[in-house]
Amino acid sequence: MTRVGVFGAGGRMGSTVCQAVMDDPALELVAAVDPHHAGLDLRQLTGRDSAGLQVSSGPDSLADAGAEVAVDFTVIDGARENLRWCAGHGVHAVVGTSGFTDADLAGLRAAFTTSNCLVAANFAIGAVLMMRMAELAAPWFETTEIIELHHDAKVDAPSGTALRTAERMLAASDEWAPDPTEKHVLPSARGALGPGGIRVHSVRLRGLVAHQEVLLGTTGQSLSIRHDSYDRSSFMPGVVLACKRIAEHPGLTIGLDALLGI
Ligand code: NAD
Repeated sequence: MTRVGVFGAGGRMGSTVCQAVMDDPALELVAAVDPHHAGLDLRQLTGRDSAGLQVSSGPDSLADAGAEVAVDFTVIDGARENLRWCAGHGVHAVVGTSGFTDADLAGLRAAFTTSNCLVAANFAIGAVLMMRMAELAAPWFETTEIIELHHDAKVDAPSGTALRTAERMLAASDEWAPDPTEKHVLPSARGALGPGGIRVHSVRLRGLVAHQEVLLGTTGQSLSIRHDSYDRSSFMPGVVLACKRIAEHPGLTIGLDALLGI
């Protein structure tokens, strides 16, 4: 059994990670850290039998409990500190927190010498496969458009996943046909111009969660690659997989692709 500690255990993602770790027979939740929820019983957070495990305020509980892997879904400043602690204590880190800069990643590469670290912007395995499939398909099509669809509380557009998809498709092929539109009856009717001129359309709709469709077209045929996240649980198979495989990937790994072997 791999012994896992969770940073941000009181948060939306962290508490869902605690549940997923408790539900997996190959993982054991041994520590939960969240300075803003310290003292809470894990049973209150997860609804699972937690054998009296309580949320602690700092990382020392991970060392005391002999955690081998730490999962971090917190805030960027907290994650920077937590990862320094993990690197210093030889604990593997699985990180989903957003906001790492290139300089941060260079620092993590230098710091993780005795244990390993995975930073992944998207733990939904289906979304990772969607991007990989779009990249594989790109050289075989001349036209493509990306439609990303999210809930009506999302404040940024387009999504980071849509931009990253366009970047990866552009890296795989820069032979995209020019846009034939001469007359824009309504401004922005053709969406936003993403990397390489790939059009990105952002839909915001109450009731949706996180969805993306990549459309590719060539002579007499089209291909649609679609991924739908229905709730936060969509990230859990990726987090659980990372907890199990991180020990086999020395140093810093960026993105879930390497752990999926794709
Ligand atoms: P949230 O605000 O619900 O939870 C964050 C928790 O971290 C809070 O409970 C807070 O008290 C705690 N925290 C703050 N500083 C801490 C520290 N130093 N140590 C331990 N805990 C600390 O946020 P959320 O919705 O759970 O999202 C967390 C992060 O995960 C965000 O950066 C979000 O963008 C990212 N995220 C990533 C993915 C992915 O697939 N990579 C998916 C969803 C969310």
